[in-house]
Amino acid sequence: MQTHYDVIIVGGRPAGATLAARLGAQGLRVLLLERANFPSAPAASSPIIYSPAMKLLDEIGAPEAEYARGTPRIRRVVAQSKAFAATVPLPPAHGRDYGYAIDRARFDAALWEHARRSPTVEARQGYNVTDLLWKGERVVGIVGHAAKGVEERLTADLVVGADGRFSLVARAVGAAEYDVHNEHSTSLYYAYWRGVQPYDAHGPAAVAYEGGYGYGFLVMDSADGTTAITFEGQAERLNPAPGQVTEFYLDLLRSNPLICKRIEGAEMVTKVHGMRGIGNLYRQPGGAGWALAGDAYHQHDPLDGQGIFNALFSAKALAWAIRDWRRGDKDWDAALAWYDETFRIKTYGMYHRTLAQVRDNLYSPAQLPGWALNGVRWVMEDPAMHDLLGKALTRQLPPEVVTLMTPPVVVGALVRGPLRDIWKRLETLGN
Ligand SMILES: Cc1cc2nc3c(=O)[nH]c(=O)nc-3n(C[C@H](O)[C@H](O)[C@H](O)COP(=O)(O)OP(=O)(O)OC[C@H]3O[C@@H](n4cnc5c(N)ncnc54)[C@H](O)[C@@H]3O)c2cc1C
Repeated sequence: MQTHYDVIIVGGRPAGATLAARLGAQGLRVLLLERANFPSAPAASSPIIYSPAMKLLDEIGAPEAEYARGTPRIRRVVAQSKAFAATVPLPPAHGRDYGYAIDRARFDAALWEHARRSPTVEARQGYNVTDLLWKGERVVGIVGHAAKGVEERLTADLVVGADGRFSLVARAVGAAEYDVHNEHSTSLYYAYWRGVQPYDAHGPAAVAYEGGYGYGFLVMDSADGTTAITFEGQAERLNPAPGQVTEFYLDLLRSNPLICKRIEGAEMVTKVHGMRGIGNLYRQPGGAGWALAGDAYHQHDPLDGQGIFNALFSAKALAWAIRDWRRGDKDWDAALAWYDETFRIKTYGMYHRTLAQVRDNLYSPAQLPGWALNGVRWVMEDPAMHDLLGKALTRQLPPEVVTLMTPPVVVGALVRGPLRDIWKRLETLGN
């Protein structure tokens, strides 16, 4: 077994495994190290993915039949408030008009297996990286060990930290943090259930239910007939006492009559998982002998379900930067600068849109008088609004140009809404 590699990647989930596959396709000798043994779910994530993330997986040939095995296609996202429901169909993009509420254990294991198939990628699971090796100011490798194994020192031209939010690599190199936004931080808790009543008779859905002040629920049809039930809200309000997480979770679910009805007779089949005080930031993309990818590099509130896309895209951009550097087209600093700029162009608008949504929906939700509710309903039920929302979720419109409540959308909706109501009444009378 060799001990010097072109690239050592710490962390083998969406960012690390797909980076390994992309570098393997360039013929680089890659060592991919992961502490967990697959299949294994990550620390916290009850995820939905949309077509742009799947397109990035298509590019590396990761088989949808494996990562989404047994998982129903979700073609609509429903916003269910106490007063009305607005169904947003997912618009076609990249040959798909659907997303998945994936089972992360299955998804991550499929990506790991895919990376492993690359002849120049050596993948070791159950392997804990404990430190970095340095030569002066430069990172030159890692220190680590297999479970119950002896400590090893392995060297590489480049070490990539794809090791998640609490990245050891980022801490060891002292990576600088930028654009940190914790003023509206959220907490999220979820569990998977079996036997949940369907939302309606029209097939799988991701349904966002209005919750109480400062939080909301998301109920998604997931793999093998399970349903993910999640809530997310203001970190300081969703703050269960230690040891009380399950009771807290169940109490909140039972406080909502619509969710209560759906879980009647259903069984919770996993523990309650979650994360408290989810942070938002960018980190320095790299330095001498090291780089970061995925959550280690950029952390984004889960409200919009974009974290996996970001992790996959960072792997793609970093693979290109490494290719240019290895070929001698750019020196390492220029390659890193290009990586950072390319990633920010792709993610910055969505990052700030998500932060604004967290602020507006969870931290300062509008307290509307009763008479204004019809107006909101008309806007939320309007096809022009659905078109914008669907295109924003599937990244067909740059998030920074999607200002959903533009005067033409609102005025159009306020004209069409009452007409739709009249039409519905006439239909009811006709029946
Ligand atoms: C509560 C919550 C809900 C979310 N919901 C969604 C969603 O709906 N849609 C979406 O797209 N995204 C969602 N996300 C975000 C998504 O989970 C992450 O963006 C994604 O997992 C990042 O992938 P990654 O590969 O960068 O890191 P991770 O998935 O965190 O993987 C890092 C890996 O590194 C390994 N590792 C760490 N340290 C070491 C070490 N020292 N040695 C060896 N291995 C190590 C870990 O074991 C881990 O497996 C959510 C996140 C949270 C917290």
